Amino acid sequence: MIYLDSNATTQVHPRVVEAMMPFLTGRWHNPSSGYAAGREVKAALGTARAQVAALIGASPDEIVFTGCGTESNSMVIKSLAREIGRKSSKVVVSEIEHSAVLRPTEAMAAVGFEVARVGVHDDGRLDLAELSAAVERTKPGFVSLMWANNETGVIQPMAEATEIAKAAGWWVHTDAIQAVGKISVRVDEVPVDFLSISGHKFHAPKGVGALFIRKGTPFEPMIRGGGQEGGHRSGTENVPYIVGLGEAAAIMMESAQNGDLDRVATLRDRLETGLGERLKRVEFNGSREHRTGNVAHVSFPGKTAAELLPKLDAAGIQCSAGSACMTGKGMPSHVQKAMGFSDEKAFSSLRLSLSIFTTEAEVDEAIEIIAAVAGG
Ligand code: PLP
Repeated sequence: MIYLDSNATTQVHPRVVEAMMPFLTGRWHNPSSGYAAGREVKAALGTARAQVAALIGASPDEIVFTGCGTESNSMVIKSLAREIGRKSSKVVVSEIEHSAVLRPTEAMAAVGFEVARVGVHDDGRLDLAELSAAVERTKPGFVSLMWANNETGVIQPMAEATEIAKAAGWWVHTDAIQAVGKISVRVDEVPVDFLSISGHKFHAPKGVGALFIRKGTPFEPMIRGGGQEGGHRSGTENVPYIVGLGEAAAIMMESAQNGDLDRVATLRDRLETGLGERLKRVEFNGSREHRTGNVAHVSFPGKTAAELLPKLDAAGIQCSAGSACMTGKGMPSHVQKAMGFSDEKAFSSLRLSLSIFTTEAEVDEAIEIIAAVAGG
């Protein structure tokens, strides 16, 4: 099988497995235990924290380990809801957020919070003029805006958006789950208050994430108990997975430095060029300039993703029509609708997403298979 669904999840890197193994076997002690074995496990948590912090330009004490990206998002949104209060406050998100931001903010709206959604241009980039108009200085509030979109890979103008929100004295959260490990995401350059990370999008296992909380930012924990993670997220730490997340962060830093991420972007471009040459009717969507190097979002006019996906699966290609969580829901993607796509175009689109494991041979084979299936 040729795996072109790396925005849904990624293969766990062998180096990550290797780093995790000792903590599933001999080094199973509780990191809060006072004896030497416990202290050694705690030190491993510290290493992982430093590795994740280094990837985004944070300090280690600004990193909280969580159970997944969804949890990181919910933790922030709940804490900020409490911080701004329900009366005469405001929350602004974009129309293209993941359900892990849309559903919690819908829940806020259901209990009386004012929640506004800001649109995007047809290239999938946030409409900053609309954002400026939505952020009201007279109200306490926060924005929750994704750094890169999961369906299109389009990179959002986070620096500008953060400046707009900060100028109004608002808090800023970014769901950077599809950006971290793919492009440079630095909290020492863009002054967001909170940033969500998910391990399985960059070769750590599913079920581990992190949350950056800028030093000095008020935070109300969602899970209380033994006071682990600086009291921000109680519960005995999932040591093997956290160690794996740290190792994956280190691998992604190396991949940025050794040209591996550039190689992925070259392969993505090769895939698009090949499909463009072989198919008469094909469209590539989203900003050309501002996108992560691993995603091609492609429409096949006259075809539907629903008919293409099983044929591609049978022919050896795993990819998707949008986010994995929306698969099978029979609705046009809210991201594509926000970009102004007709239902017909939205239903004819596929997301092909690569990773550092994708090879040139796989891309060349994928071009032939997709062209045969979509051109037939
Ligand atoms: N936010 C975005 C943009 C995502 O792509 C995903 C992944 O599906 C999530 C949140 C949820 O992350 P997790 O699967 O770790 O809960």
